Amino acid sequence: MNIQKYVPLAPLTTLGVGGSARFFVEVKTEKDIEEAVSYARAHGLAIYPIGAGSNILVPDEGVDGLVMKIAMHDIELHDAADETFLIAGAGARWEDVVNLAVEHGLYGIENLAGIPGTVGGAAVQNIGAYGAEFGSVFEYADVFNILTGVFERIAHTQASFAYRTSFFKEHRELVVVRVTLRLVKNAAPNISYSDLKRAQLEGIPLATPMQIAEAVRSIRAQKFPKNAEGGTAGSFFKNPIITHELADDIAKLFPDVPMFPQKEGMIKIPLAWLLDHVLALKGFSNGNVRLYEKHPLIIIARSGSRAIEVDTLAHEVAQRVFATTTICIEREVETFSGR
Ligand SMILES: Cc1cc2nc3c(=O)[nH]c(=O)nc-3n(C[C@H](O)[C@H](O)[C@H](O)COP(=O)(O)OP(=O)(O)OC[C@H]3O[C@@H](n4cnc5c(N)ncnc54)[C@H](O)[C@@H]3O)c2cc1C
Repeated sequence: MNIQKYVPLAPLTTLGVGGSARFFVEVKTEKDIEEAVSYARAHGLAIYPIGAGSNILVPDEGVDGLVMKIAMHDIELHDAADETFLIAGAGARWEDVVNLAVEHGLYGIENLAGIPGTVGGAAVQNIGAYGAEFGSVFEYADVFNILTGVFERIAHTQASFAYRTSFFKEHRELVVVRVTLRLVKNAAPNISYSDLKRAQLEGIPLATPMQIAEAVRSIRAQKFPKNAEGGTAGSFFKNPIITHELADDIAKLFPDVPMFPQKEGMIKIPLAWLLDHVLALKGFSNGNVRLYEKHPLIIIARSGSRAIEVDTLAHEVAQRVFATTTICIEREVETFSGR
């Protein structure tokens, strides 16, 4: 285990902004995690697990603690009767996991193709896209509890997956070490999402997991900014889920706003629609950072941007949404201030 000091974090994130980690370590085994946690305890340091850094904002002043990059990359398939269990180290690239699954004709995560990040980050965030969510294939996770110093297993029933959140996100003392997914050999392709329906009408083949993953990647390539345009962490904000009463008030003001019924009478509103059609914020900028013209949920940070510029822009957007709609929006991207 090699503990380093003052390691710049911007290159380890997709937004590419922010300062250094006072202490930094890459952990490749369970033993490395135990040793890193002992080191942090002995030196009174907060611990900050990091995957591929695709959903975090590192402050300009850096992180005063031990940033622990999770680097267990192993991926295995275990065949059972009608299903296959995929077991992956938390540091495995999510795209590698999707590729292995679709190459074996396994259904369950093909609609989640093209999402950056690691398996650990996927579990924490309960990633979702194109009508699928990570939580629906999750079987269990092996985790290390920083507080007790013990390895534990968290089953599906405990994992409390919901829209971009999970038990792991709520329990910051847990470091996800390895995840087991349940994938199936036969299933009806999940092409209920509008973009996929459209692709089907255009004659794009969507019969196998591989074909769906390819179609999803090509749809995503048209929506997300290219690397050269700057850093991004994907959707910076969550789509708000609001009460029926508030939705009725908003519908009176803005009759065209799309609304998607959720559990318990709640309504999900596409925030990108509000930012575009109600607030005209496409391309809205603060210094080097701006809301992406093609998809205003995405913040783009040009090379050389500061975290404070991102933070100020996000704050301004949230204030304008509240002033116009009384909706309090939440960030999907986490400001990395630790646990
Ligand atoms: C271009 C782009 C497109 C995106 N599209 C989507 C999308 O379609 N759908 C979607 O849901 N997300 C999307 N995202 C967001 C992001 O890819 C996911 O949230 C991803 O799962 C984050 O994984 P990560 O490894 O990068 O996590 P990080 O950003 O490194 O960390 C995120 C959080 O997880 C914690 N964490 C990471 N690993 C562990 C671990 N092993 N144990 C404990 N805690 C851990 C971190 O402490 C932090 O709190 C997109 C991002 C980008 C840049």
